[in-house]
Amino acid sequence: MTDYDAVVVGAGNAGLTAAATLQQGGLRTLLVERHNVPGGAGTSFRRGRFEFESALHQLSGVGVIGHPGPPFRVLQSLGVADDLEFVREPDLYRAVVPGSHDVTIPADWAGAVDVLDDAFPGNRDRLERYFDLVRRVTFWQITAMRGTPPADIDPVLFTHGPRTLGDVLDEHFTGAGIKSALAAYWPYLGVPPSHLAFQDYALTFSTYIDFKAAHVRGGSRAMSSAILDAFLRAGGDVQFSTEVTGIRTHASGVVAVRFDDGTEVGTGEVVSNASLPDTYGMLDDPPAGVSAELARRRVGPSAFVVHLGLDATAAELGFTSGTNVVSTTLDDDALARNWNSLEPALGVFATCHDVAPDVAPPGFAPPGTCRLSLFTLQYSGLWDRIAPKHYHINKFGHAESLLDAIAPISPNLRDAIEEADVSTPHTLARRLGHTGGALYGYRQDPAENRLFNDRERHTGVRGLHIAGLWAGSGGFEPALESGVRVARRVVCSRAA
Ligand SMILES: Cc1cc2nc3c(=O)[nH]c(=O)nc-3n(C[C@H](O)[C@H](O)[C@H](O)COP(=O)(O)OP(=O)(O)OC[C@H]3O[C@@H](n4cnc5c(N)ncnc54)[C@H](O)[C@@H]3O)c2cc1C
Repeated sequence: MTDYDAVVVGAGNAGLTAAATLQQGGLRTLLVERHNVPGGAGTSFRRGRFEFESALHQLSGVGVIGHPGPPFRVLQSLGVADDLEFVREPDLYRAVVPGSHDVTIPADWAGAVDVLDDAFPGNRDRLERYFDLVRRVTFWQITAMRGTPPADIDPVLFTHGPRTLGDVLDEHFTGAGIKSALAAYWPYLGVPPSHLAFQDYALTFSTYIDFKAAHVRGGSRAMSSAILDAFLRAGGDVQFSTEVTGIRTHASGVVAVRFDDGTEVGTGEVVSNASLPDTYGMLDDPPAGVSAELARRRVGPSAFVVHLGLDATAAELGFTSGTNVVSTTLDDDALARNWNSLEPALGVFATCHDVAPDVAPPGFAPPGTCRLSLFTLQYSGLWDRIAPKHYHINKFGHAESLLDAIAPISPNLRDAIEEADVSTPHTLARRLGHTGGALYGYRQDPAENRLFNDRERHTGVRGLHIAGLWAGSGGFEPALESGVRVARRVVCSRAA
């Protein structure tokens, strides 16, 4: 006798969409979350007069009216799309490398060619050829993901997709500046162009251009709450401030989950939104070979984040674009090495959430002010080596270096600081519960492609399923989709 048909561990984006899909699919579902709020990374927090987005800089894939993208269709399928309002950013990003370029790339293909050809004259034909390749590789990649047999796929996917981004850029362009400006999104994937699969970058870049970068009015918290409400309306149960500490199995598969207070509920299906190492660690009897396999895989980077509430407008501080990528070097490998040290940051991602009043969620920053998040990827191992008594001095010292890094856009930022909140990878590990505070799960190099490590389908334990950043790739869009995909498979398998 089971208490629930399904238990979902964790109410991040993936756990929420999984729980709502399971319950709407007719399975009695319990959603269990360590924290007292839903959303995982998809939430916000208050400091003084400001409400800060915990994580979201740019939501990918939402689309525009008449051309909805995959996450919008996920929200439609759950019946919550009409409860939310999305605001699109006109630009992808502003890329600045002092002495080389300061260029703002609009979110349309022809506009991007014009702007880049203005900034780096003589490259129009090369840009058109490169963007054509980006779009073809993306199209055939999506076609392949939908299950089309390899024989029917355009060979361009196999000849160019697995190459590195750096290699493809070198083939098309000679100038280091234009290559750096075109590759500026690479930190979103956590791997520098010299090691990043071109197909992964092509998909990310195309998604942001074709479906635009979006914000949710009321912040990502509004989206998390809307999905939770849909789950509750369908009759689901939720338990906050409860940690799942064990998953009991039998020869037949999963039979129960155990909570931190020692109680258990019976179930035949568990969807875990917790990290993969933690999920296998919860099993009384993990499958043979799993720990050796997990030890071989490399956990990806976490982040160092400075949230600032500023007593000046975005325009007064020099911000003309929501997403800003500022770097002191054109050497992306040097930037990636920088994530493993507490040397001054060589670059920074700066998201100004209040550049245009219609992009900002109202009420999050009072009139005349703005919020900025300064962000760099960073590995958590770095902080493991710092003695507790030196933690704070290093944390605030590194935050200062991010303020220095943004100076080419906003030299007088320090004068406007009213609130500041700093997170290290240790903060994120504690807040999100992920091994190493990892943002994207395992390192997103070609060997981690879903084709080789499909944990969504194959956990090795009957009734155990993984959804979210540890099952595929990180990001809001992939997490929202992953939860629905996994849950639909569970619903279908039980109906069969
Ligand atoms: C600082 C930062 C900036 C980011 N910027 C962007 C961005 O601009 N665009 C973008 O697309 N993505 C961004 N991301 C990545 C994105 O937020 C994540 O990849 C995505 O939200 C992951 O969703 P998830 O549901 O898989 O996991 P999470 O959101 O991490 O949710 C996991 C949930 O499981 C809960 N949990 C874990 N273990 C247990 C347990 N044992 N029992 C009960 N509950 C448990 C956790 O408390 C958490 O609520 C960013 C992430 C961070 C941290």
